[in-house]
Amino acid sequence: MKLHEYQAKEVFAEAGIPTPAATLARTVDEAVTAAEELGYPVAIKAQVQVGGRGKAGGIELAADADEARAVADRVLGMELKGYSVDRVLVEDAVDFVNELYVGVTMDRGVGRPVAMVSTRGGVNIEEVAAEEPDAIAREHVDPAFGMFDYQARKVVHEAGIDRAVAGDVASVLTTLYELWTERDGADAEINPLMVTDDNEVVAADAVFNVDDDALFRQPDLAEMEEETAGDELEAKAHEYGFDYVRLEGNVGIIGNGAGLVMTTLDLVDHYGGRPANFLDIGGGARAQRVANALEMVFADENADAVVFNIFGGITRGDEVATGINEALDQFDAIPKPVVVRLAGTKARAGMEILDTDRVRVEETLEAAVQAAVTAAEGVDG
Ligand code: GDP
Ligand code: MN
Repeated sequence: MKLHEYQAKEVFAEAGIPTPAATLARTVDEAVTAAEELGYPVAIKAQVQVGGRGKAGGIELAADADEARAVADRVLGMELKGYSVDRVLVEDAVDFVNELYVGVTMDRGVGRPVAMVSTRGGVNIEEVAAEEPDAIAREHVDPAFGMFDYQARKVVHEAGIDRAVAGDVASVLTTLYELWTERDGADAEINPLMVTDDNEVVAADAVFNVDDDALFRQPDLAEMEEETAGDELEAKAHEYGFDYVRLEGNVGIIGNGAGLVMTTLDLVDHYGGRPANFLDIGGGARAQRVANALEMVFADENADAVVFNIFGGITRGDEVATGINEALDQFDAIPKPVVVRLAGTKARAGMEILDTDRVRVEETLEAAVQAAVTAAEGVDG
């Protein structure tokens, strides 16, 4: 689970990491009021969970109320890398002389947490890591002992951080490591950690991803996820207990079992279509779950057709087919073409039961996928 920048900053600030004064705003008026209260200049920052917002136009400085209004008006509601911006963080702009990078993550190769420091902050750190790995200093930590002070100082020194701020950077790194441990972080990152001309360090950005499997013991962080629920469909999927990922194509995909759904995704791609989603309804296929899944894909405006790939195992094909028919009964009209492929136990009986006035039945997965891809294209024009 990813926190938003404003949420991660709250967590960081509470732990003692310096962050700029800031207010979250959901409307242009709120943003202007926040800016007036903070004083100019302010940075106005789109709160979407993607990197590179700066380059994509999601971050801008404003020097007065007119500029704040113009920026907020432009950024709120904009589409940023597939996400629509529904809130902005209005922040005291930092006047910086340097942008550093500090981060903590799990080094799976080594099997230990690693703390990282670089003077090359403010840019895409993955690029730096790929092109000039030596520009990032790394220190592995034994989780049994935690990060010793000398380790923090050593990695900061190795990164070539200016002595005037080295102590502060080391202390930010130590706090970040402790947070990462105590709050079950997957990745914790400050990029950039800004250095001001009077040698203060400030976390101008904040990334904190929480280990999903540990959310049960981080209830306050889990609550932040609910607050986040940016995508309505993803929120619905969560409510229904589906594994769901929204994608950018036009063919909706529903199946029971992750492998089956992945295969269907691959085949859609193979036949020249683009998947609109990954939706795994899990074992069995009871009518209500099928109806919930259909409702989700019907509600997705990107999906122009649906391919249903069901394998009858313990749940027999005829039961699944009855479930699908019952699910279809819950809709007054079937708004987009639905293609069903049934396999496994009692598949043939299932195919005979399915109501072919409302769904198209195909014997093979290949034929079902091709039919859905073609149907979706027809709608697209
Ligand atoms: P990201 O692009 O999504 O990682 O967003 P960041 O928060 O890292 O901001 C990207 C860049 O915007 C920073 O590296 C800065 O160059 C600039 N920026 C962000 N906040 C401020 C600020 O308060 N003052 C100034 N001058 N620039 C900022
Ligand atoms: Mn950043």
